[in-house]
Amino acid sequence: MAALADLDRRHLVHPHQRSDRTDRAVIVRGQGCAVWDADGAEYLDATGGANWLCQVGHGRAELAEAAAEQLRQLPYFTSFDVFSNDKSIRLATRLAGLAPAGLGQVFFTCGGSEGVDTAIKAARLYHHRRGESERTWILARRFGYHGATYGSGTATGFDGMQHAVGPNLPHVHKLTPPFPYHSEWFEGRGCTDFLIDELAAAIEQIGAHNIAAMIGEPVMAGGGVVPPPDDYWPRVRALLRHNGILLIADEVVTAFGRTGAWFDSPGRGMDPDMIVTAKGLTSGYAPLGAVLFNEDIAAAVTDDGFFHGYTYFGHPTACAIALANLDLIENEGLLDRSRQIGAWLREGLTAAESLPVVGDIRMAGATIGVELVADRATREPIMAGPAATEIRKAHGVIVRDYGNTVVIAPPLVMDEQQAARTVEAMTSVLTRLHP
Ligand code: PMP
Repeated sequence: MAALADLDRRHLVHPHQRSDRTDRAVIVRGQGCAVWDADGAEYLDATGGANWLCQVGHGRAELAEAAAEQLRQLPYFTSFDVFSNDKSIRLATRLAGLAPAGLGQVFFTCGGSEGVDTAIKAARLYHHRRGESERTWILARRFGYHGATYGSGTATGFDGMQHAVGPNLPHVHKLTPPFPYHSEWFEGRGCTDFLIDELAAAIEQIGAHNIAAMIGEPVMAGGGVVPPPDDYWPRVRALLRHNGILLIADEVVTAFGRTGAWFDSPGRGMDPDMIVTAKGLTSGYAPLGAVLFNEDIAAAVTDDGFFHGYTYFGHPTACAIALANLDLIENEGLLDRSRQIGAWLREGLTAAESLPVVGDIRMAGATIGVELVADRATREPIMAGPAATEIRKAHGVIVRDYGNTVVIAPPLVMDEQQAARTVEAMTSVLTRLHP
């Protein structure tokens, strides 16, 4: 591995990482929830390829075969404008059947960021077609992650994303996220009451007639696995609708079983006008994303005069892999399994709740966030990076760190023993971690 790691340091760009980092594992093979590095050391992947995906597990022959068959039949033909291909039509039809009612029009991308850019443009275009061209503002939230392109990156609520690469897109306003654990943000009031007043004040200040859409993850993922209070999305939705503002659900992480359902937004009363998705659509076996539009928005986008789309729109091999992936999720009952995995992990972590460094444990389906604090009263954060590295090095379990939250987001084929091993590794390291 040393030789590969050396080449990695010399030639591969890892943004927001120290270039002389020496503890990077070079992963070369995977099967189920197990992955191996270049020296043959085995790890338990409790993060879905270190990025919240890999729903069906690593090394699935069914997906390799679907890819090989499509590569032999027709590797590539765009379905962007004049032409179409059979696999993109079949996948769009399948997605329309799984999507919340009314969101049956599909636009393909290569991933989440392109999808978010597409949704932002589509929202503005929708209003423009209706004679409301001033509606250009986008409402987003601090700690919401939406991607790394200029549009999606500007909507992302992490300062580092915009650091020194400006000027960013104008007309994005960041709201406070629904984060009940951080009650200090809400001035002694209920989380949703405070946030609804804040949203109403923002609409008043910017002017409803200037706002195109709000974007949000049903459950913030990279922000720390943060399920909102039950009344948050229904009340936000009502206020937006009253003001003619569209709602974009960023389901890049939450869809395809990650939180226990095909899509997370319906269960949270979000009722969005568009859904952006990617990651679990192919379980990571191919780069592919999709934006689901309602008919009115799709009509605005397809009118003459708007030019937007990507070379790999509806890539047939990626779409063939996605179709086979959705079959596996369905046939193997991975939506139910996701909830079961979450229950194993959450129950196993009960003992960790009382550790001095554990501020809060949150979950959504198979996804868990453990927020680390130096002081449970002040909620002063402890960065989770060293703990995540220790969990990998000492116990061979791969988890991720997002700020001061350790995240578990395993493939949805994790078994009870693997869940127990993940819990043991986490608990052992967090027990030895001192504020
Ligand atoms: N939205 C969310 C919620 C995400 O987590 C991500 C990626 N982590 C994106 C959008 C961007 O997706 P991509 O990296 O595929 O462009």
